[in-house]
Amino acid sequence: MSEVRYNVITGDWVIIATERAKRPEDFTHVKEKKEVAAYLPACPFCPGNEDKTPDETSRLTDNEGKWAVRSVPNKFSAFSPEGDVIRHKVESRQYISGVGLHEVIIETPLHNMTTALLPVGHVEQILHMYKSRLAAFYEDTRVEHVILFKNHGEGAGTSLEHPHSQIVGTPVFPGQVMGRLEEAIRNYYYVNFGQCSYCQCMVDEMKDKARMVSENKSFIAFIPYAALSPFHLWIFPKRHIACYCGITDEETADLAAMLKEILLRLYIGLDNPDFNYMVRSLSPRETSSKYFHWYIAIVPRVSQAAGFELGTGMFINTALPEASAQFMRAVKIE
Ligand SMILES: [Zn+2]
Ligand SMILES: [Zn+2]
Repeated sequence: MSEVRYNVITGDWVIIATERAKRPEDFTHVKEKKEVAAYLPACPFCPGNEDKTPDETSRLTDNEGKWAVRSVPNKFSAFSPEGDVIRHKVESRQYISGVGLHEVIIETPLHNMTTALLPVGHVEQILHMYKSRLAAFYEDTRVEHVILFKNHGEGAGTSLEHPHSQIVGTPVFPGQVMGRLEEAIRNYYYVNFGQCSYCQCMVDEMKDKARMVSENKSFIAFIPYAALSPFHLWIFPKRHIACYCGITDEETADLAAMLKEILLRLYIGLDNPDFNYMVRSLSPRETSSKYFHWYIAIVPRVSQAAGFELGTGMFINTALPEASAQFMRAVKIE
């Protein structure tokens, strides 16, 4: 019999198909290995082609003064950075002018690199860029919510091979984010009686250990009890804080080590799977929120949501979270 597990953080029911669960190694999609050069003359993100992107908004440099990480406006932005947010409502029809911010964070000059293989110090620079751009986006009063994410591989929706992340400031508060926030508020006041449900979840996972993947001074990485999909992973900061911008330099170094380690475990364990990761955070104005806790969700794209998921909002996970976590812990990363 399968188990229908409840995800207290997202408010989702997940069917864990325990009996027909696949073995962790069965999620490896063996891809054709192609040789990719470190530099592609036609790539707009490769060094020397800086004039092919809109003017950069920020850059971090290496010891030699060359750029290491750049942030540039997205040429194919979903939003226009000019204009005012104007709300229209006619009877039941409503829309808001598509004003917002959208930048691409070019993570490294090397075209064929990936986070899992970057030096930790370089990952740290990417994370510093995340922090400064997130803070800058929230300074724009037209922006209601900012989402930071990375798409890795075609199966995760990326069209450009050069390693990059994206940051989008939207003029509306997204429905899914609203759902998570409502869940957090309800848990705080009515379920946990004044305790953050993320902090509670972290204590429980560290005690149970079955789904833990890694831990350092400031972060834990684990597969949620009711993971929505196979190898869905969460990285939680141990310190309760609602906005990513509140992260200290020491925590940024710890997060770089953790993110690299987890992505390396996936890279080796599942043979470089396509994945998305998202930084879920409130705004700097809400840093001290008692019920929300910023975190990173990593979603390897090793299975596909289909009609059942679309029709119910429930998920079927064909991997047992405990078995996936054990597999991830066992991956040799030295
Ligand atoms: Zn490139
Ligand atoms: Zn918390």
